[in-house]
Amino acid sequence: MSNNVLVIAEMREGALKKICFEMIGEGMRIAHKLGGAVEAAVLGDEVTDKIEPLAHYGLEKIYTADDPALANYTAEGYTNVLTKLIKETEPILVLIGATTQGKDLAPRLAARLAVGLASDCTGFEVRNGNLLITRPIYAGKAIATVKEETRPYMATVRPNVFAPPEPDTSHASQVEEVPADAGNIRAKAIDMIKEAGERIELTEADIVVSGGRGLKGPENFALIERLAEVLGAAVGASRAAVDAGWKDHSYQVGQTGKVVTPTLYIACGISGAIQHLAGMKTSQYIMAINKDADAPIFKVADYGIVADLFKVVPVLTEEFEKMKAEG
Ligand SMILES: Cc1cc2nc3c(=O)[nH]c(=O)nc-3n(C[C@H](O)[C@H](O)[C@H](O)COP(=O)(O)OP(=O)(O)OC[C@H]3O[C@@H](n4cnc5c(N)ncnc54)[C@H](O)[C@@H]3O)c2cc1C
Repeated sequence: MSNNVLVIAEMREGALKKICFEMIGEGMRIAHKLGGAVEAAVLGDEVTDKIEPLAHYGLEKIYTADDPALANYTAEGYTNVLTKLIKETEPILVLIGATTQGKDLAPRLAARLAVGLASDCTGFEVRNGNLLITRPIYAGKAIATVKEETRPYMATVRPNVFAPPEPDTSHASQVEEVPADAGNIRAKAIDMIKEAGERIELTEADIVVSGGRGLKGPENFALIERLAEVLGAAVGASRAAVDAGWKDHSYQVGQTGKVVTPTLYIACGISGAIQHLAGMKTSQYIMAINKDADAPIFKVADYGIVADLFKVVPVLTEEFEKMKAEG
């Protein structure tokens, strides 16, 4: 077994996801403490042409598995290739993004390797040669410290928690092609159909503007969308808004929705129930607009506006527009 950290780099439409770089940064810190290096694995079709952005982050090696059968993610195909790679390279830790794909892949891979898995992790610490992993539990009400008894350690990493490192162009990583035998894939992804309209991905957005029941109806989401557009933000929603059918579930932030960690989260007409906070309370700055001064959202907010959102949101939108126009 080596002391190396292996990062499973995820691609979406030929581009590496932001979480890859966040895991490399944290992987470097862990590997340094364990006396190892960081390597990455990229699976897909014609990936060798797409890994250039990874080359300058101090990675010891980038493993590529290139095959048309790996073009679209399948749990079976990716598990087959990665099991072989992990058995051969024997890393001490495997990091996978806690994305939709990563959450599907990691348990299957861990089961195949007969190792433990810590999911949605937000902290790593090396103590006496052991890796201690922290992860929020009970919708973020408590933080658990986990010590895995099996090797390699395996963890999925919550997006937007770790800062990506700066690239270093003086170093270029070695690339090694590995067997891309996807095996017998019983469930095949035939096509990927994008949702209508271009939309900033919630979990990757730097700013999120969310609306809740306080919006009173689906038509009023236009206010949120306008503000989001001016700020270049993604739109989110509380479960109350989603359950009412005002927004699709893919917009839901919270325990049973998406976890976001943007620089700025703007909650409009959202009370701040614990299940909603579970999805956004680790945002760097939280701004809340609510007409009820006692709403729980104000307990986590850095900036609070006690007012009618129908009056405040248009004014904010207008002011941000002016600021943008002035440069
Ligand atoms: C198992 C479980 C899982 C859950 N998962 C999630 C989840 O993932 N995400 C989630 O969001 N919830 C989740 N919930 C639901 C959660 O408990 C709350 O019911 C929900 O978050 C409430 O949504 P809300 O804040 O939009 O609505 P409300 O709680 O009704 O709050 C509306 C707010 O709008 C304010 N308001 C009204 N009018 C105005 C106005 N004109 N201007 C300004 N403010 C105004 C009110 O003062 C109020 O604070 C879950 C619940 C359970 C039991």
